[in-house]
Amino acid sequence: MRLRNIPGANDVIASSPYVIQEPIDKKGNQKENFPKNQPIHIEIGMGKGKFIHELAKRNPEINYIGIERYSSVLLRAIQKMEEEPLENLKFMCIDAKEITDVFDTEEVDKIYLNFSDPWPKDRHAKRRLPSKEFLLRYDKILKKDGKLEFKTDNKGLFDFALEELPVANWKAEAVSYDLHNDEKMCQGNIMTEYEEKFSSKGNPIYKYIIYR
Ligand code: SAM
Repeated sequence: MRLRNIPGANDVIASSPYVIQEPIDKKGNQKENFPKNQPIHIEIGMGKGKFIHELAKRNPEINYIGIERYSSVLLRAIQKMEEEPLENLKFMCIDAKEITDVFDTEEVDKIYLNFSDPWPKDRHAKRRLPSKEFLLRYDKILKKDGKLEFKTDNKGLFDFALEELPVANWKAEAVSYDLHNDEKMCQGNIMTEYEEKFSSKGNPIYKYIIYR
């Protein structure tokens, strides 16, 4: 994700009705951010929010929270909401490391990770969003029967993510090494910004669905 420091982004975020302000104070009560009491699904590292916006539009019976740590990127998701507001979508501007500070035990029903940053150096492995360190965090906030879906075009990151599963006591329910040619797993697939970019270059898309 190309990052530019957009002047005023922090002010827009601090006053946006689409952003959950002081999310730590709402730990355990995130559903109160929405008019309807419905299951909560989250996307971590949502970027400009194309995927989660479309997902929320298609599934009004779910409440969605998109998480992005950079204000300049989150701003784009806010702009999309201003053009097409949805009552079942909100955002948080936090680092995913803080995920257990903002969600209580089993407060989340489903987690999406899309095209997470690969952090190629070994010494940065624990920063990767599908690492065992993050899986342990997700384990705390996700309902016992909840699932996590991860897509990427990065084979190295995908192999790493699969290797981390047994270490953190997660299991794969479904795995695809070529999502766009996998009729079953691709059903209802919503393309993310990165997915559009990399699949148009001919890269296969990898996906897993995991549970504990
Ligand atoms: N999910 C989008 C897509 O598929 O088009 C964006 C992918 S982009 C490669 C990864 C995004 O995750 C970036 O916007 C980055 O800022 C965000 N991100 C990476 N690590 C994060 C973290 N620890 N907490 C929150 N957001 C993070």
